[in-house]
Amino acid sequence: MTDLELPGITQTRRERPARPATHWADLSIEERKQAVTAAGLPGFRADQISRRYFGHDDVEPALWSELSTAVAGQVTQAWLPDLLEQVTALSCDDGDTVKTVWRLTGGALVESVVMAYPQRVTACVSSQAGCGIGCPFCATGQQGLTRNLSTAEIVEQVRQARGLAASGAFTRSPDRLTNIVFMGMGEPLANYRALVAALHRIIDPMPGGFDMSARNVTVSTVGLVPRMHDLAEEGLPVTLALSLHAPDDELRDTLVPINHRWPVADVLAAADDYATLTGRRYSIEYALIRDINDQPWRARALGELLAGRLTHLNVIPLNPTPGSKWTAAEPDVEDEFVHLVREAGVAVTVRDTRGREIDGACGQLAATVEGA
Ligand code: SAH
Ligand code: SF4
Repeated sequence: MTDLELPGITQTRRERPARPATHWADLSIEERKQAVTAAGLPGFRADQISRRYFGHDDVEPALWSELSTAVAGQVTQAWLPDLLEQVTALSCDDGDTVKTVWRLTGGALVESVVMAYPQRVTACVSSQAGCGIGCPFCATGQQGLTRNLSTAEIVEQVRQARGLAASGAFTRSPDRLTNIVFMGMGEPLANYRALVAALHRIIDPMPGGFDMSARNVTVSTVGLVPRMHDLAEEGLPVTLALSLHAPDDELRDTLVPINHRWPVADVLAAADDYATLTGRRYSIEYALIRDINDQPWRARALGELLAGRLTHLNVIPLNPTPGSKWTAAEPDVEDEFVHLVREAGVAVTVRDTRGREIDGACGQLAATVEGA
């Protein structure tokens, strides 16, 4: 913190957190061509580097046969800085869930989680260090926002997850990363430009990006309505997940403070518009909290609200977070809740609580700035 002396006033200003170096994955195809040319290299190098990075997840130019040692050094130095320093990697669920904590430039810590299932391998990635929205049941929300991640810091989490999946670490699953969910730390739509660029790197065909399927990429948001509209216009048919948590504004105001700005009716209308424009069904996330939002009348109200919409409901048993007195609904209350919403004609799934014992489950991601 720096104190600014102004006549009669003392203001406190946060120092700007250190920004990461520019990385190949920050750049669009056009920018890559310009960058290599500006560095005195022939334009075709851009395509070669992209094919290595996005096609083979390869960040070791020293081993690329097409480059001289000098050029390899130049490429590494200019465009492949190490953005994620691994602090810890923990596994649970018999090795099928791996949580990695990364230290970013400037010291902020973020986490990504890879979950292996029989039919898919899913990476849960972070878009911000901390989060400024402040939902009271979420560990990330309790620490406030440290900074936005750069595009490449997001893409590098994906590349690392691809490497893990391809390494044969998950013996009962496909040996490639199939799905990505933006459900780690942060509110992705609050870091909109970096998010959209990262989505392009993930989805665009070679040599633009990893060429992963857009429908297997899910962006979860608390409902920043203008950004939801923007995302719908991007022409990236990713799946949208809307974190609702209550059918009524009175409760949602307390669970998701930004509801004061964009209430239930507005966020649902924006999600409906998203579905209309993209043709993609969206999901509603509902963390079920004992005696807070798990009452039968709320289940009925939720069913009424969602019936007829192009959506399905994902019930997430609350993961307890340190310092919060809230806990998951009782199993029979959860069953009744799910039953009542289904009765209204809404498709419902109950999310498993992968990673709970390593604090890798939703809302438990609470890495913070080291030493803070
Ligand atoms: N900020 C975005 C995405 C990250 S949070 C959002 O809120 O949608 C990803 C999901 O985890 C959200 O649905 C969020 O509501 C949920 N979540 C947060 N804390 C949780 C907790 N303690 N238990 C269960 N789910 C939680
Ligand atoms: Fe931020 Fe999402 Fe946590 Fe709310 S639930 S504090 S929006 S990360």
